[in-house]
Amino acid sequence: MKVPPLTVRFTAAGIHILEIDLWLDPRQPVAHAWFSHAHADHASGRPQQVWATSRTLELYRIRWPITTSVDQKLIPLAFGIPIEWNGAKLTAWPAGHIIGAAQLCVEKDGYRLVYTGDLKLNQPICGVKTISIECDRLIIESTFGLPIYHFLSHTEARHRILSFAQETLAEGATPVFLGYPLGRGQEIAHVLATAGIPTSVHGAMHKFLPAYEAEGYSFPGVEPYSAQTDPSRALVVVPGMRDYLEARGEVRVAYVSGWAALANARTRANAHELIPYSDHASFTELLDLVAASGASQIDIVHGYAEPFAHILRGRGYHAQAATAQMSREEDAGA
Ligand SMILES: [Zn+2]
Repeated sequence: MKVPPLTVRFTAAGIHILEIDLWLDPRQPVAHAWFSHAHADHASGRPQQVWATSRTLELYRIRWPITTSVDQKLIPLAFGIPIEWNGAKLTAWPAGHIIGAAQLCVEKDGYRLVYTGDLKLNQPICGVKTISIECDRLIIESTFGLPIYHFLSHTEARHRILSFAQETLAEGATPVFLGYPLGRGQEIAHVLATAGIPTSVHGAMHKFLPAYEAEGYSFPGVEPYSAQTDPSRALVVVPGMRDYLEARGEVRVAYVSGWAALANARTRANAHELIPYSDHASFTELLDLVAASGASQIDIVHGYAEPFAHILRGRGYHAQAATAQMSREEDAGA
């Protein structure tokens, strides 16, 4: 068998493509890196040179303004337009996850390696539709790589979010949606606000709204939450604010997450409403992504990596979990 022209090392510092000295979502200072998207567990390092989509770089600058010193070079990659790097071709392709998210295709001597970053296959509420790329080697996440994870479509999730908010407000209580600052929070706020429901969001979410608006998602009337916020407004806040809000008045809590698909999620989340919607792929979406890639080698780098790799091997794929070498933290935006 011909030796592939690209060697991948999975380390605690991140994923390194040896021959072209490129790190994928590194967690430690490196020379040259690709950021798949702006979630903190993927774009937290401080590489000297970073490629990412322009939107991801914008979000990265908002989140980590201190890292954008003059000695750091941030280079935008547009979807589908390759650049040359150390004898290889790097091309960004859309990944449905948060705005700006992208897969990276690295091509050398006709051999193609694709790193997905985080993604789902179905259309998200806010974000692009994933494009499947044929490749020889696929490095894919598996946050929800077990058959128990089935999620609502964006249309169903939208309906459930609005029903919960409207019913809660009709009962005279405040609907509270718990979300992480980047991604889910903006999706929920967009659904509520465009349906005419007065909405306030946590300041950590509010600062990202202009980037979402630049992508075409509107937030009419959305205000940052403050102690003076009227209780008749729907709230989208970080989970840490729950106790504070419950002490201030009558609230009902909705948990919009992939983890809401678990049978014991209600107990775990102590939520009034569970809405199983995620910006990650469900189990069947992961299988579809793997099949569409046509890859002869598959590396699983996140979540249920060992069991998902086992399932893939049972289906005849050459698959391995790379998490043991990497031991990454769970993604905050699941
Ligand atoms: Zn993510």
